[in-house]
Amino acid sequence: EKLKQLKNSNEGFVSLEFFPPKTESGLTNLLQRIERLSVLKPLFVSITWGAGGSTAEKSLELAAYCQKELNLTVCLHLTCTNTNKEIIDNALAKAKESGIRNILALRGDPPRAEVLDDSIGSLNKDFQYAADLVRYIRHEHDDYFSIGVAAYPDGHVDGSDNSFQDFEKDIPYLEEKVKAGADFIISQLFFDVDQYLKFESKILSTESLANIPMIPGLIPINNYQLFKRVTKLSHATIPKSVLNRFPVSVQSDDRKVKEIGVEVLDEIISDLYKRSNSPIKGFHFYSLNLESSIAKLVKKSPILQEYTHIAADDTNAIVASEKD
Ligand code: FAD
Repeated sequence: EKLKQLKNSNEGFVSLEFFPPKTESGLTNLLQRIERLSVLKPLFVSITWGAGGSTAEKSLELAAYCQKELNLTVCLHLTCTNTNKEIIDNALAKAKESGIRNILALRGDPPRAEVLDDSIGSLNKDFQYAADLVRYIRHEHDDYFSIGVAAYPDGHVDGSDNSFQDFEKDIPYLEEKVKAGADFIISQLFFDVDQYLKFESKILSTESLANIPMIPGLIPINNYQLFKRVTKLSHATIPKSVLNRFPVSVQSDDRKVKEIGVEVLDEIISDLYKRSNSPIKGFHFYSLNLESSIAKLVKKSPILQEYTHIAADDTNAIVASEKD
């Protein structure tokens, strides 16, 4: 199914991101998790794509399984850096064969060496930015796919411009992605609600972006070191009020960290729900292929219960299967 209802629907939803596991047993395990998580009736599940097509086969396999066997609506990520039209054509053809109608069009991150020797252009003949990929998909496939793009409430930081982080600089490029044919936006993960709301206001006051739905991206906190690493990599600021919730005494206690993490996310969700300038249509979760924190969060959050149309106790089976 195509994600066109994102624009019109007033019903809330959740969506879930998964990445393709490296091993067969990892895949079997993940498919069971996705099946359990499907009680949340995600509007879509998104499947990541390794930069340069490094996970192409596994991403396509997982995406096809979710779409065809689990009957979920899939949004397949595609990155265009270090790739060529052939790889993209092949991925889009396979997506079509599997009944997938939604693509998240991304640039991807260039490998480190390229950033250092500044030779990005040389390996990247067909596409340079995500907008090029959006344009290409529209040109080749017209309206067949619904296309999503990424945006960054904390600003986008490239390897080469670490010092400059301001969402204002990305706005013209985000507009370019929308002009090229993007239908919706998924935000990078963030923990600073004030910052998200500032970004949202900017989008709402930018004529070409105001009508494009943006889904806030949230990541559960399962482990303190991972939380720090992920926020550092994505350049997401952690407000002091969040950081203070994890004193040294709990940092190595994963059970406690998860428990506090669920509280923190529950508060972020209520805060967004109350303060957003346009009704939040849905929440996108970077699941990291884990299920228990998401299930516990739904069990705790009346907003997510409303969005998923399930009762708190309906999450018990997922919580009980906890292996995370
Ligand atoms: P773009 O929109 O192309 O922007 C990249 C940078 O270039 C920005 O700093 C922008 O300001 C700048 N820029 C854009 N156009 C121009 C221009 N014309 N001139 C000058 N500068 C310009 N990565 C993966 O490898 N696989 C995934 O599956 C994946 N999934 C993601 C999902 C989400 C929701 C998000 C938010 C990110 C994901 N990423 C993924 C990471 C993403 O690939 C990186 O953040 C990447 O560095 C930027 O991708 P983009 O599509 O936002 O790029």
